[in-house]
Amino acid sequence: MNTPVSQSPVIAVFADFDDTLTVQNVAHFLLNRFAPEAMAKYSAMYRAHELTFREYQERSFDAVTVPVSEMQSAAADAIDLRPGLRELLDAITEVGGTFTVVSAGLSFYIEPVLSANGLHNLSVVCGTALREAADTGSFRYDYPFAGANSEPCHGEWATCKCRAVAEAGHGVTTVFVGDGNTSDACVAPKADHVFARDRLLKICAEDGI
Ligand SMILES: [Zn+2]
Repeated sequence: MNTPVSQSPVIAVFADFDDTLTVQNVAHFLLNRFAPEAMAKYSAMYRAHELTFREYQERSFDAVTVPVSEMQSAAADAIDLRPGLRELLDAITEVGGTFTVVSAGLSFYIEPVLSANGLHNLSVVCGTALREAADTGSFRYDYPFAGANSEPCHGEWATCKCRAVAEAGHGVTTVFVGDGNTSDACVAPKADHVFARDRLLKICAEDGI
């Protein structure tokens, strides 16, 4: 019996960005360079559970006083993608799979890093930050993939990676790649296969994932 040809991909790979696809954490790199005091203050509050991830991210980037273009060139110049990413993308293409970047971070720094490395057409699910007229000052943040604090996810993440994986469709083998202990840890048990590093690896080992 022949397997029917399907329009859906056989495999859908979802990968976290900061510290997973990139060797360095881009958000931390930018905030350390352009708003170190705000980052120190708000990251301490985040670790003390006094701020949500979104509040930490937004207050920290709002403290940056250089133009966005300056942050973008700094990130594009300094950040390296993890070795093996191109081979992974080729392998996924070869089997007709899809690849989606899923990040709680922000497109203004994700896109330039990908573009600087010749990756122009990747699908990216993440937050956005726009400044209105002025080149500096507060951003207007938007999280089109924020969890609705409902099934399949109960996290307060900026981007609900569970939702992205759930929308891959029936019969698709889902793969998640990540490193973190928040939104990455939330989605890991829901993907068919997980490739983990760092904090997520520890959690997966402990939970038998
Ligand atoms: Zn979740």
